[in-house]
Amino acid sequence: MTSTPPRQRTSWRSSIALLIPVAVCLIATATVSLGFVVWSAQGEDQRSLAHETALARHIIELQLQRIPHDQQSVTIWDDAITHTKLSFDQTWIENNLGVWMHEFFRHDEVAILDDKDRPIYAMAAAATIPAAEFEARLGDIKPLVAELRRLISGGALTAFESGRAEAPFISDLAIVGGVPSLVSVEPIVSDSGAITQARGTEYLHVSIVHLDAAYASRLSDEYFIAGARFSRRGGDATDRAVMPLTNAAGRFVTFFDWQRETPGAMMLRQTLPVMAIGFLVAGIVALALVDQLRRKSHALEMGRADAEHLAYHDPLTNLPNRAHFETALARSLAHVPRGERTVSVLMMDLDRFKQVNDTLGHQAGDDLIAAVGQRLAQFIAPGDMLARLGGDEFGILTTHTPGISEPMSLSHRIVEAIGKPFRVFGSEAFVGVSIGIATAESAEADWREMLRKADIALYEAKTTGRNRAVVFEESMNELLQNRHTIEAELRDALRRTDRLSVDFQPLFGPDRTRIIGAEALARWYHPAIGQVSPVHFIPVAEQSGLIGALGELVLRRACEFGARWPGTMIAVNVSPVQLRDAGFPARVFALLAETGMRAADLELEITEGILLEDSGTATDALRMFRAAGIRIALDDFGTGYSSLNYLKRYPVDRIKIDRSFVTQLAGGSVPVAIVEAMVRLAHALNIEVTAEGVETPEQLEILLRLGCNVFQGYLLSPPITAAALESLFEAERQAAQRPGQSRVA
Ligand code: C2E
Ligand code: CA
Ligand code: CA
Repeated sequence: MTSTPPRQRTSWRSSIALLIPVAVCLIATATVSLGFVVWSAQGEDQRSLAHETALARHIIELQLQRIPHDQQSVTIWDDAITHTKLSFDQTWIENNLGVWMHEFFRHDEVAILDDKDRPIYAMAAAATIPAAEFEARLGDIKPLVAELRRLISGGALTAFESGRAEAPFISDLAIVGGVPSLVSVEPIVSDSGAITQARGTEYLHVSIVHLDAAYASRLSDEYFIAGARFSRRGGDATDRAVMPLTNAAGRFVTFFDWQRETPGAMMLRQTLPVMAIGFLVAGIVALALVDQLRRKSHALEMGRADAEHLAYHDPLTNLPNRAHFETALARSLAHVPRGERTVSVLMMDLDRFKQVNDTLGHQAGDDLIAAVGQRLAQFIAPGDMLARLGGDEFGILTTHTPGISEPMSLSHRIVEAIGKPFRVFGSEAFVGVSIGIATAESAEADWREMLRKADIALYEAKTTGRNRAVVFEESMNELLQNRHTIEAELRDALRRTDRLSVDFQPLFGPDRTRIIGAEALARWYHPAIGQVSPVHFIPVAEQSGLIGALGELVLRRACEFGARWPGTMIAVNVSPVQLRDAGFPARVFALLAETGMRAADLELEITEGILLEDSGTATDALRMFRAAGIRIALDDFGTGYSSLNYLKRYPVDRIKIDRSFVTQLAGGSVPVAIVEAMVRLAHALNIEVTAEGVETPEQLEILLRLGCNVFQGYLLSPPITAAALESLFEAERQAAQRPGQSRVA
């Protein structure tokens, strides 16, 4: 059994639905225009025929006047009376009134009738014949003769003689001796008026012209009528015009027919092929259009389905999007039986994604997101959902046996999996993931509330060190969720002296016993929240322009401290925003001068992003610092992408291997190999290496083995106040002064 898939079927149906009206339109247009062309062609032919017929009638009428006109040249003539009536002269008559008429005017027959209408002379076929032979014709022309006699007795000749009228004559069509002819009868009268005849005694001159083929061809030549013909039967060919000729009495004499002109038909013959081609082309074009329309509508249909998919999916990862996730969460909360199963939301945010995105570009960022999506998908049980919530945020909706252990262990597996390097653009990128978990404990759990809680837990995870999962607890403060609040309160804190301070985290050399320096870290004490982490407020300060003032505050405290303890390396974090400010180096040098700190004791920690930016201001500043003896450290090293390459191009004095590598050192061998490569390259370039975030003796042991130079981390010391650090130094100094110990300056 075969069946068309529904989408294809609808598309097929819709194209038929499209094709029918188009075809109907096309055929209707073709029919109407063809009809119009034929109709106008016929009209044209009709008009032409009417015109030709009128012309033919006119020609015949002209002929009926021409014969009497020919005759008048001989009938109004004294000599003619003399040689016919007064003394009959056969030869003269032949030469002037008979055979001559044939030779000069091509009349076919001539007869001269005496006053009793008897023929006294006859001519036929170009020769004089016995007059008696004409008697057979008399019956045919009698009505004309009678008519003329009536005209004469009615005074027509008198009028002529007095110059009031033309000489009278009668001409008409008639069948003479069985031959359709033009017949004209005229009296023979005096031209000078010298000969007077008694009225009614005039002799008559009869001229006959046969309507035969020869005459027809003469008319053809003379009037440009093609194929003119006289016939008793009338033509039946459609291309011939036929006109019946009747005499004055209305009797049919003959048909006059000729080759009619058909301009309309001719136009049709010329137009039709062009029209046919035109319609063919129009048809093809219409078909093509219909096809295109069909494709478009098909694409639209597909598009609608795709749009539906798109509305609920993220195009980059093809995972459900936030809208889909929220709907699914709401549904789960409504349907999952309470007590037996629990619904949890894991909200995940990539650590250091921004660095990869900034250093490698958006395409790499997109590739990384897609790869993370794929890696996460492996952890999704049937019935659970993985969604991309936006940016570098993912969410997992999972139902599990009550308790937190299942989502917790899932989170740990995810943290481990995402911590492994990703291959992006042929290189390895390292990101981590922070996870916030919210669990629906109460029956009235609202999905919005759950997402909010997961979000707060995620925030907490990010704040407390990243690369970890945190379960929501009511104690987590929401105040920090609002950037605007932080900004306003930070601004306020900068205006006073008691809220912002600087702690120092000691730095240790390989012997681990002696503090060789310290990193200055900003601290903010908020009266309502307590200690606020720089992770929260440094980005806000950077975005709001407060970083300048904040950075200067930290730098001043650091310099003051450094001035009191020469020979101690004091590291200060410098934000890219500060470095981009052209006035920054001048302020640093002014502070050094003001506090009396040695430039050689100051180390500025920058992030590699600023190097990639290639901003002239920043690199100029770095060059100036190094020229003055201030050292430059690359902080959070390894989190960007092409760090190693950049080391060669931008000379720095130190790299600080990022905490995330150190954290993983205890685990597999891959991080060890990475850190080892970093250390080796740095040393090859004469760059010192600091390992930060050292938390376990195991990590320290590995880092020592790999050859790191400086160590920093909770294992050795957390950040402490300036006063606490000073008392440490004091203790050290006193110990050094005890016999048997010495301090190398
Ligand atoms: P950072 O430059 O990487 O500073 C080290 C951070 O790691 C500090 O967090 C420190 O308390 C923490 N840390 C030290 N040892 C350990 C350890 O063993 N384990 C763990 N998990 N963490 C450890 P803190 O003070 O919260 O500072 C966070 C970040 O805020 C700093 O990271 C730095 O990027 C920024 N920051 C702090 N002070 C300033 C400042 O004055 N200016 C600028 N521009 N940034 C600052
Ligand atoms: Ca730092
Ligand atoms: Ca760092």
